[in-house]
Amino acid sequence: MALQLFNTLSGKIEEFQPAEDNTVRFYACGPTVYDYGHIGNFRTFVAVDLLRRYLRQSGFKTRHVMNITDVDDKIIRNASQRGMSIFDYTKKYTQAFLDDMQTLAIEQPEMIVKATDHIDEMAQFIEDLAAKDVAYRTEEGSYYFRIAKFPQYGKLSKKDFAGMTDGARVDVDEYDKDNARDFALWKAPKEGEFSWETKIGAGRPGWHIECSTMSMKYLGETFDLHAGGEDLIFPHHENEVAQSEAHTGKTFARFWMHARFLLVEGQKMSKSLGNFYTLRDLVLMGHKPSSIRFLLASVPYRKQLNFTFDGLTQAATSVERLRNFKLRLETSAWPEGKNAQLSQLTATIREEMRAAMDDDLNTARMLGAIFDLVRDANGMADGGNLQKENVPELLGALGQFDGIFDVMNDNDAAKVKTVVEWAQAEGKADKISEATLDIAKSAALSDAQVEELVAKHSEARKNRDFKTSDAIRNQLAEEGILLENTKDGVRWKRK
Ligand SMILES: [Zn+2]
Repeated sequence: MALQLFNTLSGKIEEFQPAEDNTVRFYACGPTVYDYGHIGNFRTFVAVDLLRRYLRQSGFKTRHVMNITDVDDKIIRNASQRGMSIFDYTKKYTQAFLDDMQTLAIEQPEMIVKATDHIDEMAQFIEDLAAKDVAYRTEEGSYYFRIAKFPQYGKLSKKDFAGMTDGARVDVDEYDKDNARDFALWKAPKEGEFSWETKIGAGRPGWHIECSTMSMKYLGETFDLHAGGEDLIFPHHENEVAQSEAHTGKTFARFWMHARFLLVEGQKMSKSLGNFYTLRDLVLMGHKPSSIRFLLASVPYRKQLNFTFDGLTQAATSVERLRNFKLRLETSAWPEGKNAQLSQLTATIREEMRAAMDDDLNTARMLGAIFDLVRDANGMADGGNLQKENVPELLGALGQFDGIFDVMNDNDAAKVKTVVEWAQAEGKADKISEATLDIAKSAALSDAQVEELVAKHSEARKNRDFKTSDAIRNQLAEEGILLENTKDGVRWKRK
């Protein structure tokens, strides 16, 4: 089996293979850096990360390009309201986005490119479109794409634009279908507005031309896949297709992947409903990055995810169960030999996890498989039937799972500490919950330091020096480290 992926362009599930050699060339729309990212944004970025990880797990190389939109209507408005340059304004949110990606264990694409570094290329692109008569210049010096010249307009979003008035224009970056008119490629500067001097005159690019220019520059005229949130299908992606294909006469992206929006507690996320959360809000409320990533990854990307606080608590429990199982495998003394039945089951589960991801990245099915294995293997371990040679196989299955989900490595404390420090520096200390501080506490001790204290604790117990061993246990508890005495020795974990 190979990866079967839903392609928005064809409206069907299709087998996905790169067009050339073993490298998947793909582009995913990145953030518009005018504010901190919210969890709806991060659902899409996690979905793209799952695709990326699975492609690599399947033996492909990736050439993954993500843009940073650091100029658009909102950025210009916000920066000018604050009396800042757009560069100073976006710098902070660009860095915040990159930090948030790390918090959520989202892998870095091979290339992250900024719109404002490609202004001349965009001007060239627009000039080429004008030369082909699919773009035109207005008196003020703006440029628009003439959609009447691109009869396939609507083929991605499957919207019918028959009967639209030729020459009617829209100049905002975001709009709905009713506003589908000739759209702005280049906006001449308004009074006092920041602009670039280019070969097509002064101005700034529209949002859509950025992604066409940068994706084709780094991936070629035709590339394998283009991804983004479902809200981008129209107008953003429809316009990218129109600009690019009118320019080259070739197919732009072969596959289009769109992640569905999430609900929060059953409702559309919005500031007015008070259910609007940035990643940082959730961390400050006491939720671990691993729980948030687990929840975002657990529902297949084309299904609606209802993001709830109950769901986050359950996610934390699930992550805990996986980590405990791994710790048990690594720290228990197992009888010699190999349980053939468990060995067979492990192999079957590994195949099932691949089949699940081949099934349009069905992460829920993958989770079902790994938890079946954990349950059965724990049962066998309890009955003394898990043997030494089963351990590497089980760790292999966990590794395969975690190559996609990436939640088992316990680095939550250090990440949470970073968010706490950010909140303190930004004057948001009142937003930091007790639970958050509790998680961050153990970041003060490295794994090696904990190991050393745990060894001293064990030594003291062996010498029946309980005063010392209790003192160390209490000290560790203060630092957010939990100890568990088992028949095979002491295990520890972070709170
Ligand atoms: Zn884009």
